[in-house]
Amino acid sequence: MKIIDVLNDKKLSISFEVFPPKMETNFESVKMATEEIAALHPAFMSVTYGAGGGTSKYTLEIAKNIRDKYDVPTLAHLTCVSSSRDTVRERISDMKSLGIENVMALRGDLTPELEGADRSSWDYQHAIELVRELREAGDFCIGAACYPEMHPESTNQRQDLIYIKEKVEAGADFLTTQMVFDNSLFYNFMYKIRDLGVTVPVLPGIMPITNANQVEKALKLSGAFMPLRFKSLVDAFGDKPEAMKQAGIAYATDQIIDLYANGITNVHVYSMNKPDVAETIMGNLSDIIGERSVGFRWIGEDN
Ligand code: FAD
Repeated sequence: MKIIDVLNDKKLSISFEVFPPKMETNFESVKMATEEIAALHPAFMSVTYGAGGGTSKYTLEIAKNIRDKYDVPTLAHLTCVSSSRDTVRERISDMKSLGIENVMALRGDLTPELEGADRSSWDYQHAIELVRELREAGDFCIGAACYPEMHPESTNQRQDLIYIKEKVEAGADFLTTQMVFDNSLFYNFMYKIRDLGVTVPVLPGIMPITNANQVEKALKLSGAFMPLRFKSLVDAFGDKPEAMKQAGIAYATDQIIDLYANGITNVHVYSMNKPDVAETIMGNLSDIIGERSVGFRWIGEDN
């Protein structure tokens, strides 16, 4: 099933992101965790992909397994940075032969080794090139990334937004945001992107922070703003693991409910291969998920 059809359904829904193992020895435990999340029957699940393609085999294997075993639509991520055109074409061909219909087209994170590299000889510089290639290669539903607080490498938000618009014009069917901890920043982004004429669904990315160690890593990776309300919670409970987990899940749940109440129909949760976290969030929303959306529409949305 194409994810754009799930999104156009306009029912309040949730999707979860999982990541493949970095080493083969962890494959079974990761597979089990992803299956436990799939058994909750979210609207769809996305499976990340290592920049450079190191864990690519597992991405497709996990995406196929979840779809076939649990009938949950899956979104396989694909990155292009530092990959050769031949490698990317091979992955696209693997996706076709496995019947993968949904692809998240990404440039990929620049690892420390890649950051200093001479990029001029790379086959791909930006995600838009991958979006174009996927659009030409087959009938894929294509997702792309966006950044309510600007991509960390950008210095000009308007230019960043224009690049996002170009990715959509090149063929992206929907966008998913980097993690946000303050919904008002997401709403602000929505006004700007709709004003630029981007009308595709935009899924806010919510990261439930369930232990204090996650905070620094998450902020470094995303450059996201952490509201005082969240900082206070980490200060108060950061050294009490169970309390921190409960508070982090409650904070994420609160963000999701606010998003639904403001006309957003699907929220993407970075569930980090943690079935218990996914299950608690789903439980907190049990009477909300599946409801029709509140009827509020963002500027530029036509249905
Ligand atoms: P781009 O769209 O190429 O943007 C990167 C930078 O280049 C931005 O600053 C942008 O403004 C600029 N830019 C874009 N187009 C142009 C252009 N035409 N000319 C000049 N500048 C341009 N990483 C992984 O490695 N694996 C994953 O599975 C993964 N999943 C992700 C899922 C989501 C929802 C998100 C938000 C991020 C994910 N990432 C993943 C991280 C992502 O790869 C990084 O954020 C990366 O730095 C940028 O990827 P992008 O696709 O947004 O790149």
